[in-house]
Amino acid sequence: MKTLFPIVGQRAILEMLHQIAENDRYANAYLFHGPRGTGKEAVAIEFAAIMNCQSEDERPCGTCKGCKQMRHLQHPNLTQIFALPGGSGDRDPLKGLSESVIEDIQEAVLNKSENPYQKIRIQRAQNIKISSIRQMQKNIHMGLAESGRKIVLIFEAERMSTEAFNSILKIVEEPPPHTSFIFCTGAIHLIPETIQSRCQMAPFRLLTTEEIINGLDDYASLESGEKVKRIARMANGDFGFALALADRNLEELEAQIVKFLQAIMGGKPLAIKEQVDYLRSLTSESGLTLYRFLQLIQLWMRDAHLWSETENLNQLVFQQMIDKIKKFVEHYEYMDYDSAQILLENAVDFIERNVYIRLALYSLQVQLHQAIHGKLQEKIYGHRHRYNPNSIR
Ligand SMILES: [Zn+2]
Repeated sequence: MKTLFPIVGQRAILEMLHQIAENDRYANAYLFHGPRGTGKEAVAIEFAAIMNCQSEDERPCGTCKGCKQMRHLQHPNLTQIFALPGGSGDRDPLKGLSESVIEDIQEAVLNKSENPYQKIRIQRAQNIKISSIRQMQKNIHMGLAESGRKIVLIFEAERMSTEAFNSILKIVEEPPPHTSFIFCTGAIHLIPETIQSRCQMAPFRLLTTEEIINGLDDYASLESGEKVKRIARMANGDFGFALALADRNLEELEAQIVKFLQAIMGGKPLAIKEQVDYLRSLTSESGLTLYRFLQLIQLWMRDAHLWSETENLNQLVFQQMIDKIKKFVEHYEYMDYDSAQILLENAVDFIERNVYIRLALYSLQVQLHQAIHGKLQEKIYGHRHRYNPNSIR
């Protein structure tokens, strides 16, 4: 299958999109959803290229004018919407932004055109602005600039406010001719039902270790070897994370995981405060987000659990840390692994909703401390996750 950029995995979705294009039966809107770093945005750009390629043969051909413009994310039929910092424009999202912010935006878009797995991240940009939606609504009614279809890509759609969702609803329901919307999100539970019900769904799945290894070859020029395998296991299906890990010192990261666990095991307030400060300092610009760090902790705990039950080294993510894992398992024989996993999931959930992050991190550490020492009380569990209290030891 020919693609504009190398696409990591997701063959089933690509085939579905080719089928849609072949039959020329497009939906008004698509919702690309699934775990982070699985290529929703890259595949959305690919779909836009398929729809706007001028070749009579296999699409996207990669050489026609449409493909070239799409590769640079400069096709006149393409509108991209993403989170931006606050400005002063009511209908112009860039109005009131400083020159350096505008430069940052241009650079982020340029980076994405070089690697569609790169996220567009602008400092202090939390939300998709209502002015971005208004501007799109104004421009989208202008005629089709080229043949093909007009595509509105909404990256990280969960960053839209209720007001923004409401204002886009009508145009999604009745778009101008030859127009489709693609909402991309890693947090479908934050997308209102009114939007979901108007979209054709495209569920993305976690990538396999093998797919990530191939992707690292394409995008990070890393050939298969021990380090690449290690990165692919730690990324746990999230290619965006694999790319971030490729630029990192893995030993430092592992040392950080150990520090975090030691602070929790010891339960000393000062050490815990230090860890909370560290976690709060993680930002998306460095690729290592709070979410991803907590995911590494989850993987580490899962390793310890697996080791305690199977002693099978090959199943572990952190194979190179086996000495530490062994020690942990031997020392904490009453460790409540199931609860620890739920606590970590709940913390991620809280953080995603942006509520009291510091408080969520403190309570995570206190409760993890109890879980590690096998002293967790049943009453602390949240409601979101099914849990059978009978399994508490
Ligand atoms: Zn083409």
